[in-house]
Amino acid sequence: TAKERQSGVEVYDPAADGHDRGRLVLLSEFRRALAQGDLVVHFQPKVALATGAVTGVEALVRWAHPTRGLLGPGEFVPAVERTGLIEPLTDRVLDLALAQARAWAAQGLEVPVAVNLSARSVHRGDLPDRVLAALAGHGVPAGMLCLELTETALLTEPERARDVLTRLRAAGIRISIDDFGTGYSSMGRIRHLPVDEIKIDRSYVAALAECAEDAALVRSAIDLGHRLGLTVVAEGVEDDGTAASLQALGCDVGQGYLFGRPLPADELTRWLTGRRP
Ligand code: C2E
Ligand code: CA
Ligand code: CA
Ligand code: CA
Repeated sequence: TAKERQSGVEVYDPAADGHDRGRLVLLSEFRRALAQGDLVVHFQPKVALATGAVTGVEALVRWAHPTRGLLGPGEFVPAVERTGLIEPLTDRVLDLALAQARAWAAQGLEVPVAVNLSARSVHRGDLPDRVLAALAGHGVPAGMLCLELTETALLTEPERARDVLTRLRAAGIRISIDDFGTGYSSMGRIRHLPVDEIKIDRSYVAALAECAEDAALVRSAIDLGHRLGLTVVAEGVEDDGTAASLQALGCDVGQGYLFGRPLPADELTRWLTGRRP
């Protein structure tokens, strides 16, 4: 029923077409994946452009599917986001990311972790308590966690989103605006938000060297970010030329295949320790 759908509960609809049925199969398999612990996270480094120092890592979810292999988020997150199952997904990713942050700390590695939030989660009043409980459960300081959310998450019910973000930020958690530049009115809106960081979307970063319009957008995003006292991150940095251009424009941090692909925790640990002087 409409009511059940609104509450995020998936109901079997005998009139469902093949597409819907495929989605129901995926969601029931996903429920099993949650129960069996088949979700894993890979970690991708964020690197200070001026020094090469690792400023943190982003946790990116993957599903170790029993028959289909390792699935990327594009294959299941959009369907899961339309249901209440996105909350257990967020909680699981937080749990895995914070457990890893704790393990790194025990090895003497200080690695702040970033976790992606879906647009819906930002409107849930229980989110701050869930996040704080996860931090306490793992004994990880709030300053070691960054939450990434897209601008579109803030367009619906902005008052509620602001309230949730304000509470998270007051606890010491960093807030990052992901895919910056892809939403509309980003420039004007960002000014009033409790955030610490913007991440310029990789669609603008990729052609930075060849495309004057993209370069102009990246330049103004960096200027705006700095004027507001924010850290500016560029995502999708794939080559040296792009990294050099970004550094020349004053961008603080880069993330992308040039520095490192998303890796399982043990491989990232080797990568981190291997590059220590
Ligand atoms: P995102 O947050 O914008 O994450 C960056 C995506 O770009 C990742 O894809 C990453 O692997 C990819 N990437 C990183 N560097 C490069 C590069 O240099 N070149 C190119 N072409 N791509 C690069 P991934 O892991 O497939 O994730 C896709 C999206 O899925 C993420 O986009 C994010 O929106 C979503 N996602 C991932 N994990 C989670 C999660 O735990 N929860 C939620 N709600 N969404 C997630
Ligand atoms: Ca992200
Ligand atoms: Ca992004
Ligand atoms: Ca993106």
